[in-house]
Amino acid sequence: MEAEKCAGLSLKPVKCVIVPTSHTLDVHIALRIKTWLQENIPDWINFNIKSAAIYLGFLLGPTAGSTQWDKPMRKYLARARAIGATHAPFNISAYMYNSKAVSVLAYKAQLIPPPARTQQSERGALSTITHFATNSLTVKEFFNMQTLGCTKIQSIDCLAAASMLRFALSSHRSWVEWVRQLRAVAREALPLRHAFSGILSPDFWDSRPIALNLDTAWQDAAKHKWFTDLALDPLTPAPPNIQRTFYANILAIKFPCDFEAHLTSHITRLISPRADPNRCRIQEAIKQVVTMPAQARIQVLRTWVNSWATSRRFHERIRLPCLFGCTDKEDDLSHYLWCDILWKDIQETLLAPLPPSIAERLGVHPNPTPPERLISLQTLGCLYHSYHYLRNNFCSAAHFLHVPSTPELRLCDADFKFFREEFSAFFRGAALAAGLACTPRGVQPVTDGTDTHIAASARHSGSSQPSPKSQSRFSPSGAVFAPVECDDIVPGSLVGSIDADALRPAHTCSVSGVVAMGVSD
Ligand SMILES: [Zn+2]
Repeated sequence: MEAEKCAGLSLKPVKCVIVPTSHTLDVHIALRIKTWLQENIPDWINFNIKSAAIYLGFLLGPTAGSTQWDKPMRKYLARARAIGATHAPFNISAYMYNSKAVSVLAYKAQLIPPPARTQQSERGALSTITHFATNSLTVKEFFNMQTLGCTKIQSIDCLAAASMLRFALSSHRSWVEWVRQLRAVAREALPLRHAFSGILSPDFWDSRPIALNLDTAWQDAAKHKWFTDLALDPLTPAPPNIQRTFYANILAIKFPCDFEAHLTSHITRLISPRADPNRCRIQEAIKQVVTMPAQARIQVLRTWVNSWATSRRFHERIRLPCLFGCTDKEDDLSHYLWCDILWKDIQETLLAPLPPSIAERLGVHPNPTPPERLISLQTLGCLYHSYHYLRNNFCSAAHFLHVPSTPELRLCDADFKFFREEFSAFFRGAALAAGLACTPRGVQPVTDGTDTHIAASARHSGSSQPSPKSQSRFSPSGAVFAPVECDDIVPGSLVGSIDADALRPAHTCSVSGVVAMGVSD
């Protein structure tokens, strides 16, 4: 009462919790505490009695360990699902994930390591926000996306370790003393097996002391050369951005970047099971990819790791055939890289020679010059974009709702004709926006953020007969704006925004078996 009067603060019993720390809480213990309060401090009789309680965001008490991470993990997963539902581009999703989802766990991770199950939840969350197909990327690649010029994705494990190490550095004097006291008390009061095994808590505590977590983080880091090289002095203020330094070093050890090996493995499987991995120039291809616009980088990467949303890759109930008319082939990336009908349409749109090999179509062939490789990669990005336009607008599950539940979906020639028209119209817009415009000089790639044109007219001369008056203007984003005076492109129309309607040829669609398929946006 005196303290209450002096501080000018009064306790609200319903928000107060008594946590017994020297014995397992059961009904008998709770009853004895209540009886004691009734006799000695009747004002506290309505205090809650629990085995763990929240203090400054941390659950403290003998049973805190089992539920410590439940609430933040639920919040983290809910936010990851919400970010995934936006279907935002990769870089935006990654940014939102770092700032809105992972940050939920960062506060508690300063003192308490996340549970082992976090890794599994994190793997699922990464697939949810990025929409990469299962097994197309490992967590190592997800955490090293910055090597492809994309927004980096933070690793929960590394972030937790780095933030705990940063806290251990800034509070070194406090926890060292607490660990000393804990060890002294453990030697006196706990069974000898506890003292020898380093356990400093009684058996009914299901989590380690916070001071011991900090001590372990410090000792583990001290085993590494990168940490000793920093020569940190706990008695002086920590250097700025020290957590970032810790994170980078921990990431390099736990999740070393192996993009080249991983991509080579995926690409050789796409080319042929017997393809020679040494003939894949993945390093040169990556160098070109990082010069491309952000969206195109991801489109090429999704192709390389076989992450197209085909009905075969995503194990959909209704397996589609090749959307371009090869009725004996499946809706599958490994076919589309070969599909003669599709690549003939691409050839006609770009007025460029057909890349003869899959390695060239994937941009990893050893022979091409850098400009030729860039053209292949940009074509690949446009192909990805146009295929998914077709799938999302005309061939998604929603379009097959009224089809009887049969895995055999019969599409007729008119359907394939319609798909090809839609694809060609959209691909033309995507190719123009990417800088693969039909100009007097032939196909011209552009690099990200510049208006650098790399003429490939020597290779493509003779394949195009556009108007000699044609001129293309390239915006910094890589979009192309009129006037582009090519055959069957409307002069003066805005084509950089990939407006497929504006470019789509008039068509009469005759579709059987696919409800709502003739309805365009
Ligand atoms: Zn085909």
